[in-house]
Amino acid sequence: MNRLLSRFGKRIVREKLKSLQELYGIEVIETNPAYSSQECSGCGYVDKKNRKSTQEFECQACGKRVNAQVNSAQNLLRRRSVEGITIRTPKKQVLEVLIERHLERLKGCHSAPLEVLKENPYYSDSRDFLDGLSKPLECG
Ligand SMILES: [Zn+2]
Repeated sequence: MNRLLSRFGKRIVREKLKSLQELYGIEVIETNPAYSSQECSGCGYVDKKNRKSTQEFECQACGKRVNAQVNSAQNLLRRRSVEGITIRTPKKQVLEVLIERHLERLKGCHSAPLEVLKENPYYSDSRDFLDGLSKPLECG
């Protein structure tokens, strides 16, 4: 029943957006929402603990504090141009792309919060990479 209602609701929303697009020339782009509420719009760190409540977001890695809805919206806006993530990308694969991008940003930065990352189960496949960052490096 939930699936039926969900599909029915999505069809109504799509039809409405399509009519707005035709009527006003508004560009409509679908983006993959997976982990958008757990990803930091500042540094890209993904952690369940980043989301304090429905309104509060505090990044465990960089300390950024922002309204949780605003944070998610910023992530969704950026995602339309992220390589490797489309509307049909499976959730698990979205997480892999986000982790890979975050780790790529950490290269060459001495402020990587390694202990936080090592405790995060999302980063468990990246232990070797994190161990390689264990000594302070120059930010590039
Ligand atoms: Zn952050």
